[in-house]
Amino acid sequence: MIELRDISKTVISGTAPLTILHPLTTTITEGQFVAIVGPSGSGKSTLLGLLAGLDAPTTGSIVIDGVDLTRLDEDGLARFRGEKIGFVFQFFHLIPSLTAYENITVPMEIRGTPDAGERAKALLEEVGLTGRAHHYPSQLSGGEQQRVALARALANDPPIVLADEPTGNLDSANGRHIMELLQDVHRRRNATLILVTHDAELAAMADIRIRMRDGHAEGMA
Ligand code: ADP
Ligand code: MG
Repeated sequence: MIELRDISKTVISGTAPLTILHPLTTTITEGQFVAIVGPSGSGKSTLLGLLAGLDAPTTGSIVIDGVDLTRLDEDGLARFRGEKIGFVFQFFHLIPSLTAYENITVPMEIRGTPDAGERAKALLEEVGLTGRAHHYPSQLSGGEQQRVALARALANDPPIVLADEPTGNLDSANGRHIMELLQDVHRRRNATLILVTHDAELAAMADIRIRMRDGHAEGMA
């Protein structure tokens, strides 16, 4: 369970404080599929970054499975992310000097996961890229890179998967494929899936939609 209590984010813009996320309180239960929607600049990525423990809120608390992220130090946050969170970015963020296979095994090795190689093979198969294991990101299409990035996000079998416009940089056929894979992750792995998307069809499939505008969560339905 994810409990957001009055979380907000204020940054310094030039010399003046600027609130980019106004106090938001909500609860997301285990296994839910949540879509975050809204125009560019409305605070969607800010909210996702706070949920991932990549950034700290200015006010409020984020309690995930009983752990208050705002009370963790950097090491604690890194450990929390390794255990609980898989993150998929719009621009893939693969390490260019590593092959697809290595991009997936490295986070597992850092965490000391046994059988990293076997797991990476299974994950590559899950995203339909068995034949591409030893290709570098530059040798893969955008859709293929995002499938590797998704496999990497799943490496530690995270209970929570966060994705920030994962299809925003893909053509519609590749976007559809990534969406189907994400829905599989939600259904088959029972993961909580929190997705920033502009795809109305996809948002309609979510259990809950959080609509952002100018840093306010305008509505949840
Ligand atoms: P979205 O993902 O909905 O497009 P963001 O969460 O990335 O929106 O950003 C919301 C607003 O906050 C934008 O206007 C953005 O420029 C601003 N913003 C985000 N991070 C910072 C920062 N570190 N400093 C100043 N402004 C920021
Ligand atoms: Mg964004």
